[in-house]
Amino acid sequence: MKFILKYITIIGFLFIISCSTDDDGNPNRMAGADNQTPNNLPQGNNRLNLRITGDSANELLSDRVYKSLTIEFVGVEGTEASQQAIDNLNTFIQIRCHKPNGIRLINKTIPKPEDEDDKYTIQEIARLENLHRTAFSEGDDIAVYIFFADRENENSTETNVVLGTAYRNTSIVVYDATLRRLTRRANDAFPNVKAATLIHEFCHILGLVNIGTPMVENHEAFEENNNGEEVGGHCNVEGCLMSAQANFRRNIFGQVEIAELDPLCIQDLQANGGK
Ligand SMILES: [Zn+2]
Ligand SMILES: [Zn+2]
Repeated sequence: MKFILKYITIIGFLFIISCSTDDDGNPNRMAGADNQTPNNLPQGNNRLNLRITGDSANELLSDRVYKSLTIEFVGVEGTEASQQAIDNLNTFIQIRCHKPNGIRLINKTIPKPEDEDDKYTIQEIARLENLHRTAFSEGDDIAVYIFFADRENENSTETNVVLGTAYRNTSIVVYDATLRRLTRRANDAFPNVKAATLIHEFCHILGLVNIGTPMVENHEAFEENNNGEEVGGHCNVEGCLMSAQANFRRNIFGQVEIAELDPLCIQDLQANGGK
């Protein structure tokens, strides 16, 4: 599931973010172990992290199997997780997930990857994960890897932009470079758009919408992908963080507000072991 921004504009005090998904047929939602041969598995890999997006929804939401959560944030110099993004995600997880033994956060910087190309394919993102991910689910601790990319996704264009992708059950990429470009004329919007993208992608690994967490009531939105196929994975409630048309409004203080989950998305998380 990827978060796509078709256009960002300021109409008065309104940012309009349009989001759509792609999955099978497009490598953005990877079919876990099928993508990797034993030879290129990262060291220490127990393969628990090589499943498709949404497969760990219940494991992340409930404390049935995992009592604590480790999140490994990885960025290159200048694209690291901001304190605000970390804090917002941490708060969100505490509100929605049962992790009685706590949340451990690792924030690290890696050397800028060298490449002739100025864009990332999702395969390159997965290769970087193989190289740099050190936290894996173990015992009663589940681990999530989040990369803040210094380049844009190969599918990003002027009008159809990939902001992030939840490409496996515990793997997320946020395209920091794209967020910077899109908010360059409204710099103050950057921190909140980054935090919103991060939480949106995290909700995909929590199984929203209907990708691993069953819907209590039907509220799945369908959109056409690049291949002309109808794909779901988003919410049809206007204004929801998981909707295909998420609005970033400025409040009366002029700050850009982060959209929240609507009651139907929250109901789904609660029915699948969450809070
Ligand atoms: Zn999405
Ligand atoms: Zn929703």
